[in-house]
Amino acid sequence: MNLSKEDKQIINDSIRDIQDFPKKGIVFKDITTLLNNKEAYQVLMNHLEERYKTYDLDYIAGIDARGFIFGAALADRLKIGFVPIRKKGKLPSTTVCEKYELEYGFDEVEVHLDAFKDIPNAKVLMIDDLIATGGTANAAAKLINNVNAVLVESCFIMNLTFLNGSEAVSKHAPVYSVLEI
Ligand code: AMP
Repeated sequence: MNLSKEDKQIINDSIRDIQDFPKKGIVFKDITTLLNNKEAYQVLMNHLEERYKTYDLDYIAGIDARGFIFGAALADRLKIGFVPIRKKGKLPSTTVCEKYELEYGFDEVEVHLDAFKDIPNAKVLMIDDLIATGGTANAAAKLINNVNAVLVESCFIMNLTFLNGSEAVSKHAPVYSVLEI
């Protein structure tokens, strides 16, 4: 299902730009104003439900932390399980981790080793609020493959296309972005 121009506008208008956060020169895309706008939030979730209800997915994997909000809501709508992909040191059981490079230094994401174990070759949709350089999503996609699940698609509410982050991520599976910025 394609999102109408009007619905795209409703979602886009509900996202607030914060200049110079968390540091000078960054325009932070604030989705809290989407979440507290019941019309925009419904339009978005209806769209995601429509798109993914025919994918026969087994799990949604959400990326820490805003990917949890959309991912858990979508998993509930599709009546499937939700798996968190977290920043290092937050998950309590045995994990698999993947390092990735930031502008200065490195970061790591982790998933529970047994997160997808109940369904062999589980079909997984990965979701986050935004893809910028693609470093986080690329590492998360590797994690999903490393625990023997199958990444079917990566979904982002926003894609900062000028950073070309989807290039690396689309090597794992198709990338879908609701809004291209
Ligand atoms: P990247 O690994 O560079 O693709 O960065 C993606 C992660 O950082 C996502 O989890 C986003 O939530 C967050 N992020 C990066 N840039 C922004 C931005 N301009 N506004 C809001 N979140 C951002």
